[in-house]
Amino acid sequence: GKVLVTGANGYIATWVIHKLLEQDYSVRGAVRSESKATLLRKAFAAYGDRFETTVVEDITKAGAFDEAVKGIDAVEHTASPVYIATDDPDEVIVPAVHGTTRVLESALAYGSNVKRVVYTSACATIVHVQDAPYTFSEADWNDAVVAEVKEKGRAASQLAKYRASKTLAEKAAWEFVEKNKSKIGWDLVVLNPPYVFGPPIHDVAQSPEDLNASMRQWFQSVLKGPELLIDGGMCWTDVRDLAEAHVLAIQKQEAGGERIIVSEGPFKWQDFAIAASKQGIKVFVNDDSYNPTNATHHVIYDTSKIARIFGLKFRSIEESTADIIDDLRARGWI
Ligand code: NDP
Repeated sequence: GKVLVTGANGYIATWVIHKLLEQDYSVRGAVRSESKATLLRKAFAAYGDRFETTVVEDITKAGAFDEAVKGIDAVEHTASPVYIATDDPDEVIVPAVHGTTRVLESALAYGSNVKRVVYTSACATIVHVQDAPYTFSEADWNDAVVAEVKEKGRAASQLAKYRASKTLAEKAAWEFVEKNKSKIGWDLVVLNPPYVFGPPIHDVAQSPEDLNASMRQWFQSVLKGPELLIDGGMCWTDVRDLAEAHVLAIQKQEAGGERIIVSEGPFKWQDFAIAASKQGIKVFVNDDSYNPTNATHHVIYDTSKIARIFGLKFRSIEESTADIIDDLRARGWI
């Protein structure tokens, strides 16, 4: 089959495309400009005409994906602003929400072959502040952050704006499906990853500052310190496992209509620092008394749904870190 991947030049999407092509799918990658399309075609040249590109300059415009969905069997929608520097919450929220609705509208109107749409949401739509350790599941929603951004507006933090954008976008997707259920010939799968780490294969210009947001944060926290904090941490997943989940999401019938948390488990930056030091990297370790086996994690995700539907085996912190370090060494950045 042929899969449309939006935000195709991104960190996660490039791995998704790679996995799809490796499993004999054809892929149409949607990006914002012809120069990005050219780079991407070069990166996937080995797959010949199984990889093609399309340019969608403005994903918020009515009919934005009308051409892009033609002849497509499944859609993977990943395009969304991630931690952009802006005061105006709408600059994050509008592309996240409208971009998602446009994809679904076009899939409804012109995606006559489309059987499934997979939307890359985030655990940002699930997690909310808790005083005590709490296990979140797919039943939880981060409505609090939407209210917070509504109240604070421009003064809300960058993180809050991002989280609100993802929450509103995922809600818009489920509402679209509910409203149009009698008309659509496809179903929706939503994947909710927490922090995503792992070696990048997308075009990263020339320095660690050019990494995508989550890997930039990994680089800073794990290798640069000294803001390495035992208390800092959330949950994570390796980008290659997340990409595999995107492939399974179009293959597994029973995934239809589900939101699915894709998480390896909790971490503290210290865990990655310890793993990096095993690779011969000198890191700032801020507390020698840290013992990973009795660390308390405040945010935990119930991963029983992904275990049941996908049966995916996740890479460990050690495996992922070893591969990140190899990649950064090859780039000459460490
Ligand atoms: P990247 O920044 O690497 O990729 C983001 C992609 O979205 C790029 O292709 C980018 O295109 C596109 N994009 C951003 N803003 C717009 C816009 N206004 N209009 C059209 N396209 C836009 O990030 P990731 O690969 O990490 O993120 C991909 C998805 O995964 C996002 O939806 C994100 O919310 C989600 N996610 C990521 C996590 C992580 O830790 N990395 C965790 C949880 C979810 P361009 O290059 O043209 O800007």
